[in-house]
Amino acid sequence: MSARKAEGEQRMSPIAGAYVLVRSRRRSIGLEVRADAMLVVRAPTRTPLWFVESLLWEKAGWIEDKLAKAHSHVSLLPRHNFLTGERFPYLGREWPFVVLAFQKTPLTFDEKTGFSLDMATFDRGEVVFEEWYRTRARELLDECVHHYAPLVGVSVPRLRITGAEWRWGSCSTSGTVSFAWRLIMAPMDVIDYVVVHELAHRREMNHSAKFWAVVASVLPDYDKRRRWLKDHGGILTI
Ligand SMILES: [Zn+2]
Repeated sequence: MSARKAEGEQRMSPIAGAYVLVRSRRRSIGLEVRADAMLVVRAPTRTPLWFVESLLWEKAGWIEDKLAKAHSHVSLLPRHNFLTGERFPYLGREWPFVVLAFQKTPLTFDEKTGFSLDMATFDRGEVVFEEWYRTRARELLDECVHHYAPLVGVSVPRLRITGAEWRWGSCSTSGTVSFAWRLIMAPMDVIDYVVVHELAHRREMNHSAKFWAVVASVLPDYDKRRRWLKDHGGILTI
């Protein structure tokens, strides 16, 4: 998925293995190990390569720790080749998947049989899945937002579905709430938590005790749901 598409230059380093170097007009170097176990180095435009690589040596311990952690999550969900027999996540479950000829729609979902992909769109599997997930995300999150807004005590905000990779939701100062389409892969009670969290920001634009009290007034067991997202968020990828 786009999560894995390098937006920068792919390089190899003796210490970190493959990494992605993204140059931009920033002032300092930033290191990030993404949940898909890829190291991303962000550097100012003119930083010499030797400087980047010496920094990787210096931070080797930190990088190895982070990579090991990311790998332990990523290995739970091998990357998909869109072959019959694979499984795809949706609402907290891994569903069976088949490729079939002469389907009416590119991708069909059925609670009994799981996903079926039309053979004619086989080579566009990622795109077709993302479209399907996005459509479902919009429908379901719209329902959720309408359901929870009165319970949180706010008006129904504008809803946006985004391609955000490691951020499940956000709330802008203008009051629009945004959710990553990937959220649709999480269990329903986790989706509910993210929705309530963002709606609660329309009352408290911070993470103060007051904010958490609003969340808890609607979902007393929110902490359990929040922890699930922290522990499993990295595997929600296709
Ligand atoms: Zn928040």
